[in-house]
Amino acid sequence: MSDPICNKCNKIMVKKHGVISINRKDFGTYEVPGVLHFACEKCGDRIIPPGESNRIMLDGLKLHTLKVLNKEGATSILNLSSIIGCEPNELDLVLTQLKKEKLILLSDKGRFPTVSLAPIKSKKKDGFLSRLIAKYF
Ligand SMILES: [Zn+2]
Repeated sequence: MSDPICNKCNKIMVKKHGVISINRKDFGTYEVPGVLHFACEKCGDRIIPPGESNRIMLDGLKLHTLKVLNKEGATSILNLSSIIGCEPNELDLVLTQLKKEKLILLSDKGRFPTVSLAPIKSKKKDGFLSRLIAKYF
């Protein structure tokens, strides 16, 4: 695949690999490390390949899920997925990934700077959350 050309400037875009900042209406602003993408050196426009887009989307969904778990009193997976705005099976995937990444989440503050598992664990009295924690955390 040859390097793409910027739609705005008509310049050849440069292949890059690094942290990119994402700003989404639903998830807010977050950073994703190690993303392969193409960037225009003139206007800063970028193209992200589909494989990387999926990972970026999943990272946003994970971050958003943690924020929701910290703030809102969800009562079931269905209720939690509707608050988050995803399908229950997507939420299951996200929670499974979060479980795998527990150590990263707890130790790497750069990746999820505003979220910690501590407030979630403190809500253990709640029936649904306590089952969720037992299953995924
Ligand atoms: Zn450009």
